Amino acid sequence: MEIFNGRAATEEYMSTHSLTFSTPEMTLKKFALWLGDQVNVPEKNKTVPRLMMYINDVDNQTNKSDFLPDTDESFKPSGAVTDMFKEPSQVAASTTCYNCNRLLKAGSKFCPKCGSKQR
Ligand SMILES: [Zn+2]
Repeated sequence: MEIFNGRAATEEYMSTHSLTFSTPEMTLKKFALWLGDQVNVPEKNKTVPRLMMYINDVDNQTNKSDFLPDTDESFKPSGAVTDMFKEPSQVAASTTCYNCNRLLKAGSKFCPKCGSKQR
């Protein structure tokens, strides 16, 4: 069975193209055009659309999902924004005043008891 290894194709595209200044529309169009680029197959001495390079011959036992890109569109924060999207309970729930040790809400700037500014 021949399958299109969409995961390898998207990973290759994303590792060789900066998506920073692209809109989703541009990225989508550019990716589709990139897949359709004619590329050389040196061993066969011909050109084929790039997506042919991601056609893998696999046996029927292979789990197809190994080759499918993750198209789950639910938002999963990663990297630098991970903390911003944590459940409040996962963030340090509370701190204590460094001066009088009173329990403070996370992010408090002043202690309501002694009035000292928190770091
Ligand atoms: Zn205090």
